[in-house]
Amino acid sequence: LSDKLDKALHVLKGHGKINEVNVAETMKEVRRALLDADVNFKIAKDFTKRVREKAIGQNVLTTLQPGQLMVKIVKDELTELMGGEAEGINLGGSPSVILMSGLQGSGKTTFSGKLANFLKNKKGKKPLLVACDVYRPAAIDQLHVVGDQIQVPVYSDRGNNDPVAIAKAGIAQAKAEGNNVVIIDTAGRLAVDEQMMDEIANIHKAIKPEETLFVVDSMTGQDAVNTAKAFNDILNFDGVILTKLDGDTRGGAAISIKSVVNKPIKFIGTGEKMEAIDVFHPARMADRILGMGDVVSLVERAQEQFDEEEARKLQRKIAKNKFGFDDFLNQIQQIKKMGNLKDLMGMIPGAGKALKGLDIDDDAFKHVEAIIHSMTPDERSTPSMLNASRKKRIAKGSGRSVQEVNQLLKQFDQMSKMMKMMQGGGGRKMMQMMGG
Ligand code: GDP
Ligand code: MG
Repeated sequence: LSDKLDKALHVLKGHGKINEVNVAETMKEVRRALLDADVNFKIAKDFTKRVREKAIGQNVLTTLQPGQLMVKIVKDELTELMGGEAEGINLGGSPSVILMSGLQGSGKTTFSGKLANFLKNKKGKKPLLVACDVYRPAAIDQLHVVGDQIQVPVYSDRGNNDPVAIAKAGIAQAKAEGNNVVIIDTAGRLAVDEQMMDEIANIHKAIKPEETLFVVDSMTGQDAVNTAKAFNDILNFDGVILTKLDGDTRGGAAISIKSVVNKPIKFIGTGEKMEAIDVFHPARMADRILGMGDVVSLVERAQEQFDEEEARKLQRKIAKNKFGFDDFLNQIQQIKKMGNLKDLMGMIPGAGKALKGLDIDDDAFKHVEAIIHSMTPDERSTPSMLNASRKKRIAKGSGRSVQEVNQLLKQFDQMSKMMKMMQGGGGRKMMQMMGG
């Protein structure tokens, strides 16, 4: 979707002056892009109609930068379509019971862990995970693995195949142990069927959760919308969790689901790691769909994960142009901590396209680290002193080619520049630099 919208809007972005003809053409492209992303036909049609009306209402054609204004209108409308401002999660009860629903493989178990981790670390909660997927023993194991990973207790009862009883017992244990949030992971099936719906409806009725969340794989397109509708008809759920929004961005599910079930999207999952969870921000999603990349999220995530003292030191160094390879090594460690590299790169405007077909994994860093380790301290702090013979020595020492050393130097240079931008004017400058 991003690519296509990008192309559609490119016309407008590129034009200093636009006229009725290319507005109409662009709107046609936008509509086609939405349709291709599995956005329901009527939604796409209404959407472009509203944008066109707004454009006319605001006299876009007579403004100084009509292209930019058009992009803003499209972005605002997309934001609106996905639900205006972000909504939180209801944690009023004692304990607050959160019920997960959704198809098998949608990411319920993974998200249960992510949410528990999020509530524990960000909201100071004491969660308990409850394993109500009684059909596959492996499902219970999976939740235990997740619980161990994030150090959150898990309630399970392997001898019991009644999910309602397990859920109730889990809640009772939470009360006894002082856990103030209970997250109930349930079984899903590969497609909507009566038995699954009965089961989740029974659990829902029996425990009356504070919050019922519907988890959906964002890569399933129009099917995601149909599934959402089926679950909402039965559960009248409170919010949607869009998982697997890493990799190729699909905005289609977000747009359509919100329009069809009229429930807020609350969180997104952006990777397999426990940290790959983000509060859903419609405006950021709109940016992402429009190919500007989710710069704000990227910067926020970076800020969160970077040790603050480290960051201050770095800031001073950057300001004094003293950012060296030791700092670069440090950054690599930080980036590794931040989670899957691809997730992060996907947030950088334009990087999504560049990454296609490119296989980046964390191992790629190993070569880089080897090269840096072969540098002397002086060379690390003053990379400009790296002449041909020094480069040759480093290449030999690290077992890499001179070409790779050169490549690293170039990357280092780009990264220093990027760091400077990020520290300077926040995301905006970076966005400009990256051509957003
Ligand atoms: P469940 O059957 O609904 O409980 O789904 P799981 O939590 O077991 O997830 C199914 C698969 O999707 C697992 O391999 C997860 O690692 C993976 N997964 C879940 N959420 C995400 C996500 O946000 N991004 C990616 N890339 N994979 C995910
Ligand atoms: Mg599961």
